[in-house]
Amino acid sequence: MILVTGGAGYIGSHTVKELLRAGYEVVVLDDLSAGHREFVLTPHFVRGDIRDRATLDGVFRRYPITAVMHFAALTSVPESVEDPARYYEVNLLGTWNVLEAMRAHGVKLFVFSSSAAVYGDPQKVPIPEEHPAQPKSPYGRTKRMVEEILADYEKAYAFRYVSLRYFNAAGSDPEGEIGEWHEPERHLIPIVLEVALGKRPYLEIFGTDYETPDGTGVRDYIHVTDLARAHVRALQHLEAGGESRVYNLGIGRGYSVREVMEVCRRVTGRDIPVREGPRRPGDPAVLVADPSRALREMGWQPRFTELAPLVETAWRWMLKKFGSA
Ligand code: UDP
Repeated sequence: MILVTGGAGYIGSHTVKELLRAGYEVVVLDDLSAGHREFVLTPHFVRGDIRDRATLDGVFRRYPITAVMHFAALTSVPESVEDPARYYEVNLLGTWNVLEAMRAHGVKLFVFSSSAAVYGDPQKVPIPEEHPAQPKSPYGRTKRMVEEILADYEKAYAFRYVSLRYFNAAGSDPEGEIGEWHEPERHLIPIVLEVALGKRPYLEIFGTDYETPDGTGVRDYIHVTDLARAHVRALQHLEAGGESRVYNLGIGRGYSVREVMEVCRRVTGRDIPVREGPRRPGDPAVLVADPSRALREMGWQPRFTELAPLVETAWRWMLKKFGSA
């Protein structure tokens, strides 16, 4: 049985769906601080906090766990700048707690939700895994510190892991069962679609003077189901005896904020009012992955390599969520 922490959240719930599809039994541990109970697609659910070691021990005693996928974390860069203590507590100490519970119960395989935020300002794009890791925010530092802990645990404890550095997760389950739902919503595509739906008056573009072709920020948007499938591949790699690895997960192509808006306009057929605002502190101009290592070594291939079909899945979910057309 696979333990998925944060399995009620956005990427966690989509990964649980792919694990179940691949035939795994799954138990989800989630405190529902950001996740949604109805997103938990496995019958095995424990509500609890990774900072609580007794809860973790209870889960490991109750279920025959063979590997852990660890999504439970705080995820906002600006919030981590305002309140770093919480980020170190949940993302660093919480993860250490999970690792120690695994060690106490003899579980040795770990798949970790890392982030492109570990790189900081890219010195070159696309970004390969060997790029220096100089995170610019407490959030990015918690992810990088955990990667360093993992490397030490591996050397000392016959423990193996895959760390997956996500670029911009986007889109929703193509079957419409679960989807992207953050409160508050901070991500570009759902915000643009909420504007299209009339739930927000306009999109504010954070910066139009970047050194990019149209002046707006460029990101690598990867469909959440493609991300989820990469997690299953990573697990299978570890189960087959594969060694610990770090992989970028992106499609290797960037879209600017204006390009994203244009695609959203086409997909929804609706008007999207815009205001041009200042840069958001800490945002790099361009973040695009070199995902070739994941493609080569895990035999993983993203299916959503164009933005329009990805946005269509996000739009279908948005219409369902708000119950309107
Ligand atoms: N962005 C924007 N307006 C918004 C939200 C995001 O212009 O209301 C821009 C942001 O500056 C970045 C891109 O959209 O260039 C993606 O932002 P998001 O917050 O979705 O992901 P991030 O790259 O920050 O993890």
